[in-house]
Amino acid sequence: MSYVDMSTSELETLKAALETEYASHCAKGLSLNMARGKPGCDQLALSLPMLDELTSSSDLIAEDGTDCRNYGVMDGIAEAKRLMGEVMEHDPANVCVFGNSSLNIMFDLVTAGYTHGYLGSTPWCKLPEVKWLCPVPGYDRHFGITESYGIEMIPISMNENGPDMDEIERLVAEDDSIKGIWCVPQYANPTGITYSDETVHRLAEMPCAASDFRIFWDNAYCVHHLYDDEREHVADIAAACEAAGNPNRYFKFASTSKVTLPGAGIAAVAASDENIAEIKARVGVQTVGYDKMNQLRHVRFLKDAAGVDALMKKHAAIIRPKFELVARMLEEGLGNEGIATWTNPVGGYFVSFDGLEGTAKRTVELAKKAGVTMTGAGATWPYKQDPRDTNIRIAPTLPPLSELQQAMEVFVCCVKLAAVEVLLAK
Ligand code: PMP
Repeated sequence: MSYVDMSTSELETLKAALETEYASHCAKGLSLNMARGKPGCDQLALSLPMLDELTSSSDLIAEDGTDCRNYGVMDGIAEAKRLMGEVMEHDPANVCVFGNSSLNIMFDLVTAGYTHGYLGSTPWCKLPEVKWLCPVPGYDRHFGITESYGIEMIPISMNENGPDMDEIERLVAEDDSIKGIWCVPQYANPTGITYSDETVHRLAEMPCAASDFRIFWDNAYCVHHLYDDEREHVADIAAACEAAGNPNRYFKFASTSKVTLPGAGIAAVAASDENIAEIKARVGVQTVGYDKMNQLRHVRFLKDAAGVDALMKKHAAIIRPKFELVARMLEEGLGNEGIATWTNPVGGYFVSFDGLEGTAKRTVELAKKAGVTMTGAGATWPYKQDPRDTNIRIAPTLPPLSELQQAMEVFVCCVKLAAVEVLLAK
């Protein structure tokens, strides 16, 4: 029976039962974490043979003769550019492989827009206001970057095809202070949605009042399929922008963070000729070069897109049961209560969960007290402010299956308790 149809006395009886169940969870003294999208230990183990690729007796010379032990090469060794070019479906000549974090490259590019301006346009720091489009729910660390520069973030709702394009087109056409948009176009964080071809083309083609408007195309989950026969694939923003006569509109990003070892992977940006030339010029000021040993190690281990795909299938075999457990437990626990909706992604790292209005913070608080740490409620919105307080990001990959089951039991109980509390307070 749907909770919303229950009488006050029925809700009170239910609340008492849920409180008893909740107390029994609290008594277990659990300490479980579903806060961040981290790979589990068994996933990390898949890439440990990579560490044996470079030893003191290895050939450490890249294919063009570059000695990877020494300074030099700003934009990545050729074989790493080729590898990331294959993964990102981009001409390797216009791919730069930098350090260990794509988020770091995004931060640097927002910084560049702010302090120097892109391709001769006015640096944003000299403008009275700068705004940014933020599809919601979205990735908290994206929002953290734009927030740190005082850029006003405008939430854009997501639907099953990606962000609301009617709203985006309307906003960018009339407001030249809107300088960019955060996009996770495939298996989005946290909804798992893949942008439709129409969305990609509309983003590439839409008239923008700001000539320096940039699409930050963070394809972090481009190779993270959960099911071989249900693979999704986002259309190429680069080709769409070129065809639309807006070749400089996008920056594409990817990394091997959730392919090999997060924090110890390689990250890349791909862009147009002009954008890449500007990026390379600036990077030459920023650093004397990134870690070419790690680039070499990655290429020798992964080899090419087929090598990446083979490894990703092993990851999928480990995490698929975790996503299926989450889906099953949500369905069994909350399928008939009318108090929640959630996504059933076929790739990526997250499940996006929406409870009754005004329950997300309380749910996360209850779970925390019972020893289960979730991503903070609100984190999926700019300024951590979810106006309806409904959304919670579930990250199933880190805990082992047995712990995940316990954590989800607690979570479902907390969702119900928070819902009953809100309904009784009405
Ligand atoms: N982008 C998205 C959408 C992510 O979910 C993550 C990590 N969870 C990152 C970027 C971080 O990538 P990196 O480790 O390359 O900085």
